[in-house]
Amino acid sequence: MADTDRPSVEITIDQEKCRFSMYDPKGCKRCLQVCPTAVFASRPNVKRDFSKPVEQRVDPTVWVLLVTWEDYCNGCGACLRACPHDALTIEFDGVPVSA
Ligand code: SF4
Ligand code: SF4
Repeated sequence: MADTDRPSVEITIDQEKCRFSMYDPKGCKRCLQVCPTAVFASRPNVKRDFSKPVEQRVDPTVWVLLVTWEDYCNGCGACLRACPHDALTIEFDGVPVSA
């Protein structure tokens, strides 16, 4: 499929509502777990600066959820159904995807 034939996809994560946590066993990872095309990823909230003394470095356990492969979204809505906090919205070819 040529790139121009790909559907336009816009995925928004409301970071205020999202309860993603990489390290907290009770933290949510559901969208990551159910997405069939691995659209989501995570990374530390702030890069660690190893030139600073340990006590001044950022907490390495604070990670944030990202949409890294939006183009691979197929509009299935699985992440929307799985999200317990209503933190995701998706527009697929200009049409909102419903849960
Ligand atoms: S709609 Fe489906 S393919 Fe798209 S991000 Fe959600 S789970 Fe993944
Ligand atoms: S399912 Fe919802 S609350 Fe959970 S990590 Fe994904 S966007 Fe955040």
